[in-house]
Amino acid sequence: MKQKEILLNTPQVDKVLEDMGEDHISTSFETPLREGAFNMDDEQKITEIEKRFGEIMDILGLDLDDDSLRGTPRRVAKMYVKEVFSGLNPKNKPQVRLFDNKYNYDQMIVEKDITFYSHCEHHFVPIYGKAHVAYFSSGKVIGLSKINRFVQYFAKRPQVQERLTIQIAREMQNALNTKDVAVVIDATHLCVSSRGVGDTNSRTGTAHFCGKFNEENIKREFLNYINSK
Ligand SMILES: [Zn+2]
Repeated sequence: MKQKEILLNTPQVDKVLEDMGEDHISTSFETPLREGAFNMDDEQKITEIEKRFGEIMDILGLDLDDDSLRGTPRRVAKMYVKEVFSGLNPKNKPQVRLFDNKYNYDQMIVEKDITFYSHCEHHFVPIYGKAHVAYFSSGKVIGLSKINRFVQYFAKRPQVQERLTIQIAREMQNALNTKDVAVVIDATHLCVSSRGVGDTNSRTGTAHFCGKFNEENIKREFLNYINSK
């Protein structure tokens, strides 16, 4: 532990970590969680985060006795645990209910323009955008609102857009027992637009195509559909 702290404080390591954040490189497709990530319950987490967020505000020089600021540490703590990072906790994962594909519908099923809000794990500022998800049924279908819920669940974590894309795709594959899934995400990163290089217009696109969606005509059909107004 001591060793790690010393290492993290060298200017070289600091530079590497800074670049990694600016380049938005992730290290794995699983969200990196530590051992015992959910040993504390939500209430304990809120209490601990409240304390520490208050300290951050205090260090920044803010007066926590001010009426407007007094409640901020607890508000932020609740927002982190219950809202914007609630997707870290597996207990909040949406339950899947599948339906028989009664009409033997064998074309692609697309849910497009799913609005989501997430947070960049390198800067803890918002990423927001649209996700487009498609699949071919392997015998079962899923309620369309469930796809939105999967997107929201994985978005409510500190994220990297590539990982979000893959996590949604893998969850769809597991839930529907099919390889034939595609996910495209088009997003704005506030860490790029509001700070850093300060580019207010750039957007980031990521895609994950599996199974049939690797076939050129099927991929094109999907992309044409999501790009149509
Ligand atoms: Zn960032």
